Amino acid sequence: MIDHEKIEQAVRLMLEGIGEDPEREGLKDTPARIARMCEELYGGMAEDAGTHLSRTFTADNSEMVIEKDITFYSTCEHHILPFYGKAHIAYIPDGKVVGLSKLARTVEVFARRLQLQEQLTGQIADALMEHMQPKGALVMLEAEHMCMSMRGIRKPGSQTVTLAKRGIFETEPALEERFFRMLGR
Ligand code: ZN
Repeated sequence: MIDHEKIEQAVRLMLEGIGEDPEREGLKDTPARIARMCEELYGGMAEDAGTHLSRTFTADNSEMVIEKDITFYSTCEHHILPFYGKAHIAYIPDGKVVGLSKLARTVEVFARRLQLQEQLTGQIADALMEHMQPKGALVMLEAEHMCMSMRGIRKPGSQTVTLAKRGIFETEPALEERFFRMLGR
């Protein structure tokens, strides 16, 4: 899936482009190192959230389930710089629940790609709806973007917050209010 040779060529060219010597001691192995790192950072592209979310259990419970403070790391597709923070996921089961670790795995599947935070938020919510068929799903991401902290407007610590609502969360505002209360906001 990941073409190491292409990545190595590109990194060597980039190093030359910024005036570096790709052959010097400290940089000699950097192209190969970055190619290996890409396997991990973009490994989500080869994965399908369905493999995690289709392992459901039957449950009578139709009370809101919340998994909060799921740490994630992703990469912004505009700058190829990290953005990272916390994901909070809620869903209202319709006879089916998943193991809580599966929600964190779903976040990983979509975070380990080049992303936009808004798109990442929506993809997690859509995957829940598609593979678990709950009555509704809500995903909230809070993240710091290195492209805003170490370059551009340089505002370290500022958090970008995105929200995606699906199903019953779109029509019943009281559920969203409950989510925020349970989150402690
Ligand atoms: Zn960016």
